[in-house]
Amino acid sequence: MFLVLLGAPGAGKGTQAAIISRKVGLAHIASGDLFRQAVEKETKLGQLVKAYMDKGILVPDEVTIQMISERLNEPDCKAGCVFDGFPRTMEQAKALDKALANQGKLIDKAVYIEVSEEELLKRLSGRWICHQCQTPYHEVSSPPKVPNRCDKCGGELYQRSDDTEETVKERLKVYFAQTTPVLNYYEAQGKLIKVDGKLGIEKVAKEIIDVLRLESMNAK
Ligand code: AMP
Repeated sequence: MFLVLLGAPGAGKGTQAAIISRKVGLAHIASGDLFRQAVEKETKLGQLVKAYMDKGILVPDEVTIQMISERLNEPDCKAGCVFDGFPRTMEQAKALDKALANQGKLIDKAVYIEVSEEELLKRLSGRWICHQCQTPYHEVSSPPKVPNRCDKCGGELYQRSDDTEETVKERLKVYFAQTTPVLNYYEAQGKLIKVDGKLGIEKVAKEIIDVLRLESMNAK
């Protein structure tokens, strides 16, 4: 099964993609995480993408598509994967379809996690993330038990450099302008599933998994 998780920055794509990929046994491909790893390791790709990320704008399509295509060719993606943060433009969506079609595969479903713009701003500006296991926290709504330490693995928490108010506003603007056509693209193919992202992590995850189960039963 190949799934796409769609939603604005802060909608909970990363959290849900991690839960679903674990529960359904699929690889998790997060374009933002792959770019951040490249920046941290100071690879050629990292040096190329850092300026885009710092400004909150999208990395050029050809660079992003190349990185994802390489990741998609790794053996853990054979049986399927959950795409998180990709595709974000029509060009990426079409390139993904082509790359999958070359392997005789296709996107099964696109899950859209809906959250209001006001809520997204609130979530992103207080977000802290574990350096080790990527679990997100929020200073107000879900603080860690011990300040600056991850409840799950004890890792140190950090604030993403693009989670400042100004960059967050730019990322949301970019998202609504460039990713809305991608939603329409999957909707027109009857592949879009909408989930209310305000429900809370467990409920959103349950809803997504229930819908996917139902869809796969109907397909049989
Ligand atoms: P994210 O962690 O998904 O919010 O992504 C962080 C940043 O990485 C974005 O603001 C972009 O600069 C870059 N990025 C991640 N995914 C993509 C993508 N699919 N296309 C272009 N740029 C991306």
